[in-house]
Amino acid sequence: MKDSKDKPEIDEIGCLEAINGLYAYLDGEMNDPESIAKFEHHLEHCQACYSRTELESALGELIRKSAKGKAPEKLQNRLRKLIDGI
Ligand SMILES: [Zn+2]
Repeated sequence: MKDSKDKPEIDEIGCLEAINGLYAYLDGEMNDPESIAKFEHHLEHCQACYSRTELESALGELIRKSAKGKAPEKLQNRLRKLIDGI
């Protein structure tokens, strides 16, 4: 497809991979933009992961940490956006 040039397709990852990546993501250890994009893409499209208690509590935990200035502002904004969508 020619249209896919501007918007490269993101590989779908499975729920297990998303959950495995969750903590690296939350810890800010996921530095690869491609991995981050895949992870966020999965969360945006997977209702099962989105509604996971585990995920929500981990996000909540990070937000609490963020309040103490431990998380980068950019990450905080991403998380707020994700949480708003839940
Ligand atoms: Zn999932």
